[in-house]
Amino acid sequence: MTERIAVYPGSFDPLTNGHLDILARGRRLADRVIVAILDHDQKTPLFTVEERIHMIREIVGGDPSISVSSFTGLLVDFAMRSGATIIVRGLRAVSDYEYELQMALMNRRLAPAVETVFLMAKEEYSYVSSRLVKELARLGGDVTGLVPNIVRQRLADRF
Ligand code: ADP
Repeated sequence: MTERIAVYPGSFDPLTNGHLDILARGRRLADRVIVAILDHDQKTPLFTVEERIHMIREIVGGDPSISVSSFTGLLVDFAMRSGATIIVRGLRAVSDYEYELQMALMNRRLAPAVETVFLMAKEEYSYVSSRLVKELARLGGDVTGLVPNIVRQRLADRF
């Protein structure tokens, strides 16, 4: 049997417990999951791509079926280069839907063999976003329970 590989793409600036939940559940759909950090030259991130790769590796490094890389260019090209047939995305609110639908349809047009699979956010993380977590940390709020401890420490160091 051929190995089933999924890509979980995103910015992950930084990784939250919502991301981790989608990752764990995406893991059940595939033999291997690649967390793929979009190296986006138009955004100003809080953490560099390298910092994010290291942080996520520290968090999920114990699981040999999960790997972490970055990519530039088209997601479907990265997926096909990696041998992946599944793209995993998380859906939180209706507000995620429109953008995600556009992306999924465009990606399907570009690469019909790659299927986008949406997983509904866990209720307790459905309001959690990297943006909100950064805002909270910047203002001195407690992010415990919203992000892994390693991320909490890095946020505290940064602000
Ligand atoms: P992007 O910039 O591609 O949206 P993000 O890092 O913000 O990257 O999110 C990556 C993916 O994870 C997206 O599909 C997003 O909807 C999903 N996601 C983000 N936060 C959560 C959460 N709290 N629960 C479930 N899915 C989430």
